[in-house]
Amino acid sequence: MTDRHALTQTFMQPVTARNSGQDTFLQAVEEVAADVLTIEKNNPDYATAKVLERLTEPDRVISFRVTWVDDAGDVQINRGWRVQTCNAIGPYKGGLRFHPSVTLSDLKFLGFEQVFKNALTGLPLGGGKGGADFDPSGRSDGEIMRFCQAFMTELSRYIGPDMDVPAGDINVGTREIGYLFGAYKSLKGQFEGAITGKGMAFGGSAMRVEATGYGLIYFIQAMLDHAGDTLSGKRIAISGKGNVATHAAEKAICEDGIVVTLSDTSGTLIADDGFSQDAVDWVRTQKQKGADISDPPAHLNLSFEKDALPWDQSFDIALPCATQNEIDANAAHSIINAGAIILAEGANMPLTADALDKIAQSKITYAPGKASNAGGVAISGLEMSQNAHGQFESADAIDQNLKKIMQDIHARAAAEGREDGKINYRRGANVAAYRKVADAITAFGVV
Ligand code: NDP
Repeated sequence: MTDRHALTQTFMQPVTARNSGQDTFLQAVEEVAADVLTIEKNNPDYATAKVLERLTEPDRVISFRVTWVDDAGDVQINRGWRVQTCNAIGPYKGGLRFHPSVTLSDLKFLGFEQVFKNALTGLPLGGGKGGADFDPSGRSDGEIMRFCQAFMTELSRYIGPDMDVPAGDINVGTREIGYLFGAYKSLKGQFEGAITGKGMAFGGSAMRVEATGYGLIYFIQAMLDHAGDTLSGKRIAISGKGNVATHAAEKAICEDGIVVTLSDTSGTLIADDGFSQDAVDWVRTQKQKGADISDPPAHLNLSFEKDALPWDQSFDIALPCATQNEIDANAAHSIINAGAIILAEGANMPLTADALDKIAQSKITYAPGKASNAGGVAISGLEMSQNAHGQFESADAIDQNLKKIMQDIHARAAAEGREDGKINYRRGANVAAYRKVADAITAFGVV
């Protein structure tokens, strides 16, 4: 057993016992632990402060009841959470997810990852995550509004511009942020930037909606540039059909990439000659309407394969942009067989631990989401500073800023990830982020 492996196993034993059954959380912790424990062991300040162990215990976990009335007049009860993981380098920051499958384990893993992601952006942002086990599918606009208002009635006690600044995530987009912010403003009697992803009419930033998907493409361009290559003519398989997937597709098309797939839980849309912007717009509109994507208009030259995954196509770059653990060992095998050169994560932790092992042993260059999908939270950080100063920047200026931030994240991960003439971006991202957070935690003493 290697020293690194032994250190990780010893570290994980009490963490596993304390968080029994929280599998996604333990998966995220173990992945980081394997990369940073040797750094911690060799730095007496970090070791004495037990930095990583502290980070595995969120500052606090808030759980609350959300009670609201549906269109039929029936009372509905959901569970809401906010996990405030660490505010060592700035206010807690991370999205809200509304999905029936949401568990405390998922929110703890997302909050843990967010601490490292936010540190990589170079902005003063701590990490957290929240959400509810609410299923918005089939719900009317009025029901969504009443749910958001009930959720904020409780959450508003724990957030604020210098305390905790939530944003959107799965099923929490511009509409939901509008209702959440409206409720916050009304409850507090104050207009303050306690949420990001706001509409442009009330303090939102240009480019926030596009930022995660566009930033993902900027990150891949930095990887390709580093390898003396370009995106032009590369075939790109994307999973998902939501905010991240469609904006990654849109930017890839602008940069002469050939987007061959988008997908959802029902199957995969395939465009062997590449999606057009019209085709991406159609997918986005279907998603906004809550309509399915199985029957695209003929002029878009798309075919739909029910229950198929994107990874059986022929492509150079894989961009999982749907959800956690969407790629298992079999799917990783397909990606390797397709001859992919890059796998960059748009979603958070889309690879199972087995899939990650397979990809690590292959020739594929892998970019972890905490680096490659950090564009969204970075622009949220810029939204916070625009709100604080009351001055707003143009879409062009923000886009340039986003590109620079993604290039800087690439540079940070690359500098720490050099290994045998190659770059291990996973290790580089984990170590660069860990050092920044650890320096802050050790400076504060034992608090
Ligand atoms: P959206 O809610 O906009 O879209 C998610 C889409 O993924 C849904 O359409 C859903 O399909 C689809 N999906 C879910 N599971 C699967 C699956 N197993 N296979 C294929 N498709 C699936 O979410 P976002 O685009 O905002 O988020 C996607 C991921 O990116 C998440 O992991 C999120 O945490 C992460 N992320 C998002 C950021 C943001 O700014 N939005 C920032 C950083 C990370 P269906 O309609 O069938 O349910």
